[in-house]
Amino acid sequence: MSDSTFKSLMGFITANVAVLLLGFFFFPTHTTAVGQCYSTVFANFDPIYVLQRIALLGVCLLIEWRFVGWKDCSFRKLILPSRSAMHDLVIGAINLCGFAIVLFLFFTANVIPVLPASTRELVGIEWTSHTDNLLFQIVFWFVLRDFVLYWFHRLLHEFAFAWEIHKYHHSATVFTMLTASRVHFLERALSHVFVTLPLVMLGMSGEPFLAITILNDALSRFRHSMVNWGFGWFGWLVVSPITHRIHHSYLPEHWDVNYGDSLTIWDRLFGTFYEGETLNTEVGVTDNLIDNEGFIGGLLIPYALSIRRFGDSLRTNEWWQTPRRRQNEVRTEIIRDTHEDSVARRVA
Ligand SMILES: [Zn+2]
Ligand SMILES: [Zn+2]
Repeated sequence: MSDSTFKSLMGFITANVAVLLLGFFFFPTHTTAVGQCYSTVFANFDPIYVLQRIALLGVCLLIEWRFVGWKDCSFRKLILPSRSAMHDLVIGAINLCGFAIVLFLFFTANVIPVLPASTRELVGIEWTSHTDNLLFQIVFWFVLRDFVLYWFHRLLHEFAFAWEIHKYHHSATVFTMLTASRVHFLERALSHVFVTLPLVMLGMSGEPFLAITILNDALSRFRHSMVNWGFGWFGWLVVSPITHRIHHSYLPEHWDVNYGDSLTIWDRLFGTFYEGETLNTEVGVTDNLIDNEGFIGGLLIPYALSIRRFGDSLRTNEWWQTPRRRQNEVRTEIIRDTHEDSVARRVA
C-alpha cells in the first residue's frame, strides 16, 4: 500500500467515525439507519441466493466462452487474472455475495445510508402502481430509466470532477463479465440520488424496478465482454457488446460516444452515436492510475483526483471538459494501425 493510499485510508476511517459520532449525538435516526444497513447485510446473508447468482454468472461465462473462444473469454481472464481482472474479481465477488453495501457505506463515509429499499421512506410516498399491466410498467419505466441514465452517464463524462469518479469503471484494461460490477461506490450513491430517486418520486413501483434490475444485470454482463456481437438490425435499437466496447475504447475518435445503457436511441437523438467503422481491440483509459494502486488505492484515488478537479473548476469556472481538453492529458502515446483491420495498439 503506497503512502498516499494509507493516508487516504486513515482519512476515510476518521470520516466514518466522525459521521457516526455526529449522527449519534445530533441525528439519532441516521445512526439507526446506518446500523440497520450494516446488520441487514449479515443477517440477510443467503447462501442459496449467492449460489443462484454465481450459477447465472457461470451460464453467462460459458455462453461467452463458446462465442469468443478460450483466449478472449472472461473465464480464462478470471482464473489467470491480470491486475485489472483481479480488481474485477475482488469487486465482483463482494457484489455477488451482497457485501457491497458495507463498502458502499464505508466509501461514502456513512453519509448516504439510503438504498432503493429505503427510498420510499425518504421521499414519503407509497410504491403504488398506476396500472395493473406489469409488462406495460416494465417497458415504460425501462425506457424512462434508460433516458435518465443516458444523461447521468453523459454528465459523468462531461463534468471534469465527475469523470474522475466514473474513470474507475473505465480503468479496466481487459473486459471480464465482472467489469460490469466495477462501479465506484460514489457513482453508485450518485446514481441512487439522480436516477433511482427521481424515478421513484415519479411513481416507479417495486415490481418493475426489480424486473428491470435483473434484466439489466444480465445485459450488462455481455456489454462487458469481447464477444463480437453487433445484434444485426436489433443493434439499431439495443446497445450491443460492440457498441459498449467502443465506449470503453481509449482511441480518441471513440471518446464521448455511445453513452446509452440499454437503448441506442438517445445517442442517435443527441448526436453521440459512433457511426464510424473502427473497432477497438483493447479497452481502457490513457491516464490509468487506478490499476496500479491495488484494490483500496484504486477506490481512494478517484476521490483525490475528483477533489482536485473540483478545485480547478472552482478557480477557473470551467466545469465541462471537452474531448480536446482530455486529449491534452494523454500520457500514453497512441497510434492507430491503419491497415486492413484498423486495430489499435498502445506504445508504452
Ligand atoms: Zn462511461
Ligand atoms: Zn461499461
